[in-house]
Amino acid sequence: MKTLIEAPFLVTGDQMDLIKNGYILIDDQRIAEIGSGEAPDADRRIQFEESMIMPGLINAHTHIGDSAFKDVGFGKNLIELFQPPNGLKHQLLKTTERQTILEAIENSLLDMLSSGTTTFADFREGAIDGARILLEALRNKKIRAFIFGRSEYTFSKEQLEENRGEIEQESLDALEGLIAATDGVAPSSPNDATDQALRQVAKMAKVQAKLRATHAAENPDSERISKERTGLSEVERAIEHLEADILVHLTYASPKDLDLVEEHNIRVVCCPRTNATLGLRLPPIQEMIDRGIVVGLGTDNVMLNSPNMLEEMKFTTKAYRIEKIASRYLKPREVLMTATISGARVLGIDHETGSIEEGKHADLVVLDLASRNLKHTKDPLTAVTHRAQSDNVCLVMLKGEIAYQSHMAS
Ligand SMILES: [Zn+2]
Repeated sequence: MKTLIEAPFLVTGDQMDLIKNGYILIDDQRIAEIGSGEAPDADRRIQFEESMIMPGLINAHTHIGDSAFKDVGFGKNLIELFQPPNGLKHQLLKTTERQTILEAIENSLLDMLSSGTTTFADFREGAIDGARILLEALRNKKIRAFIFGRSEYTFSKEQLEENRGEIEQESLDALEGLIAATDGVAPSSPNDATDQALRQVAKMAKVQAKLRATHAAENPDSERISKERTGLSEVERAIEHLEADILVHLTYASPKDLDLVEEHNIRVVCCPRTNATLGLRLPPIQEMIDRGIVVGLGTDNVMLNSPNMLEEMKFTTKAYRIEKIASRYLKPREVLMTATISGARVLGIDHETGSIEEGKHADLVVLDLASRNLKHTKDPLTAVTHRAQSDNVCLVMLKGEIAYQSHMAS
């Protein structure tokens, strides 16, 4: 079946170019044709007045398994909140009913869809059981998910300080099953494992051709600990031993770290709102983009922030304007790219989604430009990153099917 969608503005291509009075012809799940002016025939025709169609947003880093603990521990630091095995979140995960965690995850999935996200990548704790809760929540939801599992191995303080010890066979067997059931593996931090353990994780993921990701250089303390124990930074260990494909944060990455990331074509995800909530600083997104490093945007842990990419873009647009170095700050178009095509490149799915291009999946968001907060904008592309909010989203499509529809579009 062919569906034709028309709107006064379309955001198209990898550079987020604006087309006026455009149309998109969807054939089955994919975009068959994009154009402006006279539209081709179709079985179904949807015409949007005073609106803009843009690519589905890609939230490249979440922990939606923690959705049941919103706003717990605001003001605490990273170690108090998240360090395994005794950080606050780990205590809460152990003592909260499975059903509560499941319902909270389902809420976050709807929150993401209703704010225009069509793809997300989640770091899921709790080994195979943790992954299963997320898979259960995803049933009957039209959202594309990447799940990075986390193995439950633990090392003693002495082992970590001496950087000595490997993952035992029982945990390795569990890890093999976890990697098979998910899209990749993500140790919380290189600091939670020995070099040998990181190499074991890398080997197992590579055998199954799965992605390897981890947090790195998120705060000065973790950098200091890494160097004291191993002589290397977290980024250096993640690249050398874990052979990471994706690094999350890089807030405190050194120039040497960035050289390595660039040299090894590592993709990066930054989460500026989380850095702010934790009282840290902004990651060097402009510098990474200028170096040609692929940088996606993520909302990180739902304990700290909503999984809402419109809010992440809004904060990023404004915060980097304050932090500008000389005349270099992140332009709205660049911010939108981090939330779409670059996120797709991070996950290796840019041939399928991330921009409105012929041949790609029809993952689309329709924004209502007639709403009170957007009406009279003279620059819709800037309005998306600078002032759009969830109630401006009137329709979301995943692979040509309606994934979310507000009352405005019904
Ligand atoms: Zn994270």
